[in-house]
Amino acid sequence: MTDIKTLDYSGLKDYEDCPQRFLWSRIEKRKPKIPENAYYWICGTVKQKMFELFVNERWYLKGKDCVPFMESMAPKLFEDTLKWAKVDWSASYAKLTKEDMIQEVKKGVKDGIKIIKDHRLISAASKSEIKLTANINNWFSLVGKVDFIIKHNDTNESIIVDGKDTVDSAKMPSVDPRQLWIYSLLHQRNYGDYPNKLGFLFWRHDTVLYYDAKEGIEAVTEWAKKSFWDIKKDKFEPKPSQSACFFCKYKNECDAYKTESELLNIPEGDEITF
Ligand code: SF4
Repeated sequence: MTDIKTLDYSGLKDYEDCPQRFLWSRIEKRKPKIPENAYYWICGTVKQKMFELFVNERWYLKGKDCVPFMESMAPKLFEDTLKWAKVDWSASYAKLTKEDMIQEVKKGVKDGIKIIKDHRLISAASKSEIKLTANINNWFSLVGKVDFIIKHNDTNESIIVDGKDTVDSAKMPSVDPRQLWIYSLLHQRNYGDYPNKLGFLFWRHDTVLYYDAKEGIEAVTEWAKKSFWDIKKDKFEPKPSQSACFFCKYKNECDAYKTESELLNIPEGDEITF
């Protein structure tokens, strides 16, 4: 019987997509034989770090100096991220260079500040990367690290937003709102009420998509409970699929992937948009 005390959205999603990957990654903590290539997600991670500091270090108080200051920080934050996120720049799909990506982060600064201003997503009481926990029953807790919680004292509004670096705007509506409903539940359990607004902020598209803060609470609670009991019962069968396997760091050592990869028609890296 697997011992597990906490679950978060990415763990639940991992378990739903492929229970075997969840086991290898989160229970056994296996190191993949070929390290994961961070090429696809490093830009988004650096942007997220940049705006975490924008909020928590109050860079927004720099006024007109804020954009040039943040742009000047982009190379350092990129290098800091490269210390733990390994990028294989020689991969066939790696069309952008490191310098291209740093320029992309700098552009993201201007775009990000515009969207934050337009949607009023900053206040003195805002916080970023807030860790929240809620007991679901006597057995386990849901946990989450919320990108941004913005509190406006003048309107008494509380807003949760999660930043997304989605490239293809057509994919925005298909981003999974269960992540937000877990944050909404955590907000209610920690602060006594649901957020007034709950949304995904799409850095590249000047868009925030909002969802009803309560609509999915029951569904995510049931999802978490069912997943928890299946994990406890050691249900860890592989579940190969095109979407799960393409980004899986274990595909080079996974028998299920080797058996199914031709049938799954896994595309080449440069055909993928995200
Ligand atoms: S390669 Fe596919 S089937 Fe194998 S562990 Fe990863 S996601 Fe699961």
